[in-house]
Amino acid sequence: MTARQQADVAIIGAGMAGLAHALEAAKRGLKVVVFERHPQAVGSSVRNFGMIFPFGVPHELREIALRGRAIWLEVAQQAGFWVKEAGAILLAHSPHAWAVFNEFQEGALQAGYDTDVLDAPTLLARYPYLNSHDLHGGLWTRQELTVDPREAIATLPAFLAERYGVVFHYSTPVTHIDLPNVTANGKTWQVGHVVVCSGTEFELLYPDDFKRSGLFRTKLQMMRTVAQPHDFTLEQMMVGTLSAVHYPTFTHCAGLPALRAELAERYQPLIERGIHVMAVQNGRGEIVLGDSHDNAWFPDPFNDPETNRMILAYLQSMLSLPTYQMAQEWEGIYSKHPERVIYLHTPAERVRMLSVGGLGMTLSFGQATETLNDLGL
Ligand SMILES: Cc1cc2nc3c(=O)[nH]c(=O)nc-3n(C[C@H](O)[C@H](O)[C@H](O)COP(=O)(O)OP(=O)(O)OC[C@H]3O[C@@H](n4cnc5c(N)ncnc54)[C@H](O)[C@@H]3O)c2cc1C
Repeated sequence: MTARQQADVAIIGAGMAGLAHALEAAKRGLKVVVFERHPQAVGSSVRNFGMIFPFGVPHELREIALRGRAIWLEVAQQAGFWVKEAGAILLAHSPHAWAVFNEFQEGALQAGYDTDVLDAPTLLARYPYLNSHDLHGGLWTRQELTVDPREAIATLPAFLAERYGVVFHYSTPVTHIDLPNVTANGKTWQVGHVVVCSGTEFELLYPDDFKRSGLFRTKLQMMRTVAQPHDFTLEQMMVGTLSAVHYPTFTHCAGLPALRAELAERYQPLIERGIHVMAVQNGRGEIVLGDSHDNAWFPDPFNDPETNRMILAYLQSMLSLPTYQMAQEWEGIYSKHPERVIYLHTPAERVRMLSVGGLGMTLSFGQATETLNDLGL
């Protein structure tokens, strides 16, 4: 074994969670090695919207999300990748949604949100591409960021290597952990601590823990248009009314049950597929849109074109894009705990395994502080 095969912390997986933990450990002056089984990260970290969306996290995780937001801004500037302080508009295509947004806004400032309600005439004057039919107003949340996940996840490793000396081993699946030994590609490394950020693949390393955890997989279908014409800008992320019942942000609102009931009646086929519709524009002018949610231990390996058709039709009822020509369609899968967005587990002493659910882009940078504190580092 050479000195190169020793480290204070080994991170398993070079997706968003792994990179965030590598950054935090390296900032603490620790020697960090990252193992990634593929030649590059190909998991949900490169398949998402790139929305840094503190608005959508449960209230108790807001501090972690806002800390993560600050790190995104700092790291994007240092590493040189695109980030936009875009904010988001949640659209109320229902009187009940408009009532919920207004109710939320009454306590929003006090709860630490930077939001405003905008009525339909104001929205339509500001965003001429919005469709007026059934539009009652919107909730503008200003703290959201947009990144291009493919660019960010490809740029971060070189930045971490150059600035912090993090060592990356790609095409190197970890097959066994028995501290101090970590086995990958038939070689053994000696490490002090391990953080397992293996996305949906926990069961390979810790099958019994995975089974006991209750973790399952969620598959989402996504699309991306070709670049819109240069004179078209989607200033903010646009978020449809169905998202108001997808995220937990409005659970304290008295008007939520009525909204839920209305949406269940109006959009039953979409709700059955877990569809709620969001659209963001990346730095190349393309619109990324989705999504659906198929929760299963092992989701259907094949995509359903009807799901994409429904997502697109819903988007077209929200707004009119200059072009809906699609450049790509894909699916992404993340692991999810039935009760917690963040699931941090200790399968062995000095080892943590982590699932960041459907909000890992938003939460991973902030969560890394918690994980390393938990490890006593
Ligand atoms: C379609 C979609 C849209 C989303 N949109 C958003 C969004 O807008 N905002 C947001 O906050 N979140 C979003 N999410 C959630 C977010 O993408 C995930 O929470 C996050 O990417 C999870 O990161 P991860 O590093 O845990 O997993 P992954 O990105 O899956 O990375 C895990 C890595 O571990 C590697 N690995 C696995 N096993 C081993 C092993 N034994 N040895 C070595 N390497 C291994 C894998 O190859 C993989 O690269 C979205 C998710 C999806 C699917």
